[in-house]
Amino acid sequence: MSGTSTPPPTPDTLPEHWTLPAPDVVERPWRIPWLLAPPVSLLAMLTPKRLGPHLAASGWLAAWTAHLFGLVLVLGWGRDLNSGHLRDLLDPLHLLRSGLAGTALQLYQSLVSWTDVGIAAAVFVGLELGLLVISLALWAVYTVGEAPRILAGRCARLLLWSTPGWAVLPLLAPRLYNALPWDNLQRLQGSVSVLLLLIWIVWYLSVILRLGARYSGPRRGPRWEPFHPRCEECGYSLTGQRRDGRCPECGREVVRSLPDYRQPPRFADASWFGRLLIFPRTILAAIFVPDFGRACAVWKARDASEQFFHGVCILGGLAAALLVGLWNAGYRYSLMRLLLGGFSREPLGMYVVEPALVGLVIGLLLLAIGWGERSMHMLFHRGHGAKQTVIINYMTAWLLTAVVIGGASLLLADCIARAWGPWPWIEWQPLGRFHIAILIYLLGLAPGAGIGLLGMMHAWRQLRMIRYANG
Ligand SMILES: [Zn+2]
Repeated sequence: MSGTSTPPPTPDTLPEHWTLPAPDVVERPWRIPWLLAPPVSLLAMLTPKRLGPHLAASGWLAAWTAHLFGLVLVLGWGRDLNSGHLRDLLDPLHLLRSGLAGTALQLYQSLVSWTDVGIAAAVFVGLELGLLVISLALWAVYTVGEAPRILAGRCARLLLWSTPGWAVLPLLAPRLYNALPWDNLQRLQGSVSVLLLLIWIVWYLSVILRLGARYSGPRRGPRWEPFHPRCEECGYSLTGQRRDGRCPECGREVVRSLPDYRQPPRFADASWFGRLLIFPRTILAAIFVPDFGRACAVWKARDASEQFFHGVCILGGLAAALLVGLWNAGYRYSLMRLLLGGFSREPLGMYVVEPALVGLVIGLLLLAIGWGERSMHMLFHRGHGAKQTVIINYMTAWLLTAVVIGGASLLLADCIARAWGPWPWIEWQPLGRFHIAILIYLLGLAPGAGIGLLGMMHAWRQLRMIRYANG
């Protein structure tokens, strides 16, 4: 199809090559010297989006320095809190000193016997392998269509830079509450610790996301390579075709294959507040517009689509939390006690911590499904996964619907199963003896599962529509 006798392009005909709209690249990022890595890495926890591109552009030595500095803080503070030495949390010098001293003591105690050295080494290697796996998972999150090698390095370095974010964890240790003078808090220390842990998880995730939100690497990779203009319907090369003509292969108007034909949803153009207002309508559009993938720009306004996706995860988590709170309020007995055999009995645990925990799990699950889908497309399209990102982000509207309707119908099934009992046992040969309430719960699960399945089919259809997307 790469015609050897292509006529020279005129304003009326399509050229031989097109380039994609490139993402904003942070020009001339500062490379952080390794000696400055510790203070800069702490600063990055406060302003991840601003510093992220500069950290990604810095060398490996600086990234490892930040990583080891973070580990020192975790180790030192963790030890210090358990021994009760860490007194003044508001004195930065005391915090730094106790972190270093705690690590030195911990190392001294760990390294006196070879068995302990072996254990420490194994823990360290295991931790680094775990980080390697997480950095692979970040590929789908951070990619802008750069070359895989550049992407891999950026993900791994930014993850190393984020280590000081873990140092907050030991500060949440339950031991801390014993030192607190508030009696009420001491009684609730289990619930408060879990709540703080949940807040930490959400905060750390947002730091990771914001660290990679801007790109500062070289302009190399599929995103910057010229490509042949193709008919979006059948993939026929449109080089040399007139703009007002039709595709010689399938007859689709050439105009409908031009890059400008695709536009981001209105959600992308709206202001921050406007996006809030337009969010419900965008959800409806992503679900009900059959040709969403044919009109939606896939290379532009990715940030807006990411925001939509994160909004879906947050809303899904909130909906799940609300449903669990209602469930607990209705039956005066905790879901966790049912599932895990007892988590907390006091009101804070039942009405705040437990719903928050379930909400976080559901929100993270939605995030994982979206990212997993993107990873799969990256694997199968070798670095071109960035193209599918925008469509997948908007298609997560289906997940939100599945969670809301599925959760509500499950709650309804539970109410019915309890209101009109006792249910009889049924004898049916192929399955044996079973309780008929199980059928009611299965019926309650069906709407959520059905919507999930429909959503997958719909998303798959939309992704087929962008196979040859030009814009
Ligand atoms: Zn065609």
